Amino acid sequence: ARGGAPNYLQGLNPEQRLAVETTEGPVLVLAGAGTGKTRVLTARIAHILSQGLAYPSQILAVTFTNRAAREMKERIGVLVGGAVEGMPWLGTFHSIGVKILRRHAELAGLRSDFTILDTDDVIRLIKQLIQVEGLDDKRWPARTFANMIDGWKNKGLAPSEIPEGDARAFADGRGRKLYQAYQDRLKTLNACDFGDLLCHPIRILRANPDILREYNARFKYILVDEYQDTNTAQYMWLRLLAQRPETARSPSSPAGPSPRTRGEGSSVNVDAPLSPSLRGEGKGEGQSSTINICCVGDDDQSIYGWRGAEVDNILRFDKDFPGAAVIRLERNYRSTAHILGAASHLIAHNEGRLGKTLFTDAANADDDKVHVHAAWDSEEEARAVGETIEQAQRKGHLLNNMAILVRASFQMREFEDRFVTLGLNYRVIGGPRFYERLEIRDAMAYFRVVAQPADDLAFERIVNTPKRGLGEAAIRQVHDYARARDIPMLAAATDLVATEELKPKPRSALKQVVDNFNRWHSLLDSKPHTELAEMILDESGYTAIWQNDRTAEAPGRLENLKELIRSMEEYESLRGFLEHVALVMDAEKNEDLDAVNIMTLHSAKGLEFETVFLPGWEEGLFPHQRSLDEGGRSGLEEERRLAYVGLTRAKKNLHIWFVSNRRIHGMWQSTIPSRFLEELPEAHVEVSESGNSYGGYGQSRFDRADPFQNNYSTPGWQRAQANRSEATRSNWGSRSGANVERIGYGETDSGFGAGRGSVKGRM
Ligand code: ATP
Ligand code: MG
Repeated sequence: ARGGAPNYLQGLNPEQRLAVETTEGPVLVLAGAGTGKTRVLTARIAHILSQGLAYPSQILAVTFTNRAAREMKERIGVLVGGAVEGMPWLGTFHSIGVKILRRHAELAGLRSDFTILDTDDVIRLIKQLIQVEGLDDKRWPARTFANMIDGWKNKGLAPSEIPEGDARAFADGRGRKLYQAYQDRLKTLNACDFGDLLCHPIRILRANPDILREYNARFKYILVDEYQDTNTAQYMWLRLLAQRPETARSPSSPAGPSPRTRGEGSSVNVDAPLSPSLRGEGKGEGQSSTINICCVGDDDQSIYGWRGAEVDNILRFDKDFPGAAVIRLERNYRSTAHILGAASHLIAHNEGRLGKTLFTDAANADDDKVHVHAAWDSEEEARAVGETIEQAQRKGHLLNNMAILVRASFQMREFEDRFVTLGLNYRVIGGPRFYERLEIRDAMAYFRVVAQPADDLAFERIVNTPKRGLGEAAIRQVHDYARARDIPMLAAATDLVATEELKPKPRSALKQVVDNFNRWHSLLDSKPHTELAEMILDESGYTAIWQNDRTAEAPGRLENLKELIRSMEEYESLRGFLEHVALVMDAEKNEDLDAVNIMTLHSAKGLEFETVFLPGWEEGLFPHQRSLDEGGRSGLEEERRLAYVGLTRAKKNLHIWFVSNRRIHGMWQSTIPSRFLEELPEAHVEVSESGNSYGGYGQSRFDRADPFQNNYSTPGWQRAQANRSEATRSNWGSRSGANVERIGYGETDSGFGAGRGSVKGRM
């Protein structure tokens, strides 16, 4: 640290300092995990403010999550000494998009008090449109179409611009018309969806050069974190905002800053030749004429390709902004040499990467190697992780400094249950706790009514889920009838369906509900409770909702439902299980308490913890089977980047787990250790056995003898390969005939925690 330097520069290495102080012109900081990219962005803002280069309101800074935005604001406050008044344009793409849109709502045909629809609203709306079109909404599910619209909006495509093939793919060629009808309907409702928060501003800025000029003049400095995960729409939006004000003032410039070649409602053509201003060939050489944009990112951490992110955005930065200073940071300040060595070695297995050097000075002889642990099954895994955490806690470590990062959100259940049993505080970041998830609450509502028919709250929750044509009027009738006689709603419904009081359609629908519940209730003591639970979800049509759903979250929700049933096996009865869940739900939720962090790998991006646990490193789960099935090699490489993100979250201690067995529907499935384990360098890894459930290892470090297949003679490494292809057939396929379903681990809400989530979560 240099005594004289301002505090925000102190301790920065020369490259970091260069990235902070090169305030003029385009700058790309391309660097591996933990090298201080986010810290540089923060210091850069502090520098701009302290040097009086801009007012807080003239800085546009984009983070990937709201949480990251909050933290950055706080740190800037510390660095410049005292609270920064404002920084109104520091936030996520969506939160900034809302702000722009509210100011110019009328230009998108909205009022400034427009509402932002959540996914459920969107789906309901699309369903109506599909019905208006006279289409069969079973054949053309609203969710599928909602997903398609989301994909188009990620690319910034208006209805007139979607590819022919896409338009044909839905509703016998009526895709475009439906999309347009959807947009019209949103306008009538004075509403927009998440995609519109970027797409509307893009169109407004394109169609209104005066407004564009205003923003171009306003934003003297633009900064973007996690640039490798921007999608096409976000990229277009940035490109518009990152123009020089004077070029925007000269509409005669040949390529133009905002070519309006396709009129209203069209989008920026990303492939169009760059305007002279963007190429940096404009005349004005003064400081004010350069584009002061600084993007930081790491191509190895691009993990949102499945949601439309384009890693190309970062790879072509210096073409988009010629003359850009590309700064590489190579020193990692976060992790020990072992952790870094393991991560670097793993990611080197990817092709098509820029390749970066990473080193750390933090090599300490007594640093722990990366621990790889084997467990018999996920229950033991959760138990052992819990023990490790308690040991660390006894040594004085804070729970806040520990995190469990899972590949699929259903994995959280076992840890949550275990921690409740142990009385260990935890918080789930980037998504709801397991038992608070929509599908789990719905399923639990069914079980509650079966176990306890007087549970009106539960009854109301699911009486029309899935949709059975029971409108508000019919439900109100049941409600009033129950109130008047002081009986539960299910009893009231039972009475009512025997009368003529309800209209025929709701009456027959309600009769079916009543009959079902009575039948399920009668089986409560005779049928094994897990079977009964499964039967309820199937017969009620609840499982089918998610089976027919084509959105990215649907497989995860199905997986959560399976996990819910699985978790019941640990209890003797449905009632016992319900009681357990009630207790879990009641567990302390104070965010300020010292608590273990649980989250998906996707939502862990950018974060760091003293101790990190990475459970479930098994083929099929991680790498995830679906990413392999659908993404081929690029799918595998994205999984590997996710593994790299996971490993590099750890500062000091890293524990990786794999289990030999996952129990699925009561059937043991043997599993194969993840290929990523084989890709960790031996020098940095220590394989430890915990638990006494089974004997030692084979010759390979990781080819745990699986209970169904033994007697290998090939060397471990090749054996793992062989097992892997075997695994594709047997472990994840039907192992013993019809009894075992193929399990597909869900992409789940994994990614959604950080990027999407609820309106509140995103704003
Ligand atoms: P990621 O790729 O995971 O987002 P990053 O490149 O954004 O990582 P930061 O989170 O900014 O990295 O920094 C990683 C850690 O290293 C932080 O704890 C940060 O405070 C610390 N750090 C960064 N630069 C320095 C430095 N010059 N001296 C000391 N610590 C540093
Ligand atoms: Mg970062």
